[in-house]
Amino acid sequence: DFSALVIRDADGKPRAGFERLTLADLPDNDVLVEVSHSSLNYKDGLAVSGKGRIARRLPMVAGIDLAGRVVRSKVPEWQPGDAVIVNGWGLSETEWGGYSRYQSVKAGHLTRLPEGFSPAEAMAIGTAGYTAALCVLALEDWGTIAPGQGEVLVTGAAGGVGSVAVALLAARGYRVVASTGRESQHDFLRGLGASDFVARSALSEPGKMLQAERWAGAVDTVGSHTLANVLAQTVYGGAVAACGLAGGADLPASVMPHILRSVALIGIDSVMAPAAKRDRAWAFLNAHLDRAQLAALTTVSPMADLPALAASIVKGETRGRHVIEIA
Ligand code: NAP
Repeated sequence: DFSALVIRDADGKPRAGFERLTLADLPDNDVLVEVSHSSLNYKDGLAVSGKGRIARRLPMVAGIDLAGRVVRSKVPEWQPGDAVIVNGWGLSETEWGGYSRYQSVKAGHLTRLPEGFSPAEAMAIGTAGYTAALCVLALEDWGTIAPGQGEVLVTGAAGGVGSVAVALLAARGYRVVASTGRESQHDFLRGLGASDFVARSALSEPGKMLQAERWAGAVDTVGSHTLANVLAQTVYGGAVAACGLAGGADLPASVMPHILRSVALIGIDSVMAPAAKRDRAWAFLNAHLDRAQLAALTTVSPMADLPALAASIVKGETRGRHVIEIA
């Protein structure tokens, strides 16, 4: 048998706990994977701490990311020994996830271990880092930002998505401004390439519909008033990639930045993103993410630490990315 972090119903509330499972307990999917690493994302924090209802059926094995090797397969595309990852695709929501030594996975949910990364590095990036890549690509695809032309803002900058976004944007040559609630993380963010800082509190209160134009582009992980203010401060023709809700799921904004300044609000989803988009994001990460910076923004922890880490990430107390060692 092996250890897994399982969410069960406890008097109408989801509650996570470590359990011993056997292969016979796993769902009947096409491919059995021996998981070596997973990661901790904000969503995992919500699921494991019970602060959010992530699992849509119970019992559920938590963990939205996994990396490992194929042990056995019912389909020809995947063979024993293949190195694979899964990001999203409903893991920890409708599909059993990565906090388990073994997992049975749908063939269509597997991605080959991306070129240029070890399994641990792929999980250091994980859903958060690959989402950061989707955000930066969306801004570049919009076509109005270019290195050396204006500032790009990242909100929730010391978090997982934020820190990878800062590193990627700086590597691409943009002048990156980091918004963080923690002055203690300025040196960390400067090390990743941030040139300037905006206090979280300067963006989190209700503001005017249109404000002084500053941001050529932005990656927003916070939502709510922060996103409304970022839109109101974006330059004519600029774009904002919105992927998160660390500050709230509401959007108390106006149409003014959009109809008077042609500002674009681009929504980013990583969970159901099609394979081609994922492959492009991973190739982008391989080409532009500095491995020393990836190491600098990553903490590695054993699975036993998950309950404590989950409580910390939902309180906004952790920084960067978290690899979880499963084996
Ligand atoms: P994380 O590591 O916890 O980062 C979130 C950061 O947001 C924190 O480090 C903190 O940064 C800031 N923050 C926390 N609480 C806040 C508050 N109340 N108000 C304003 N800022 C706050 O989480 P993550 O894994 O990077 O995920 C970030 C967000 O993106 C989450 O909402 C997550 O659900 C979302 N996400 C979405 C997708 C998608 O597919 N759309 C994929 C991945 C993540 P500072 O300390 O620097 O201020």
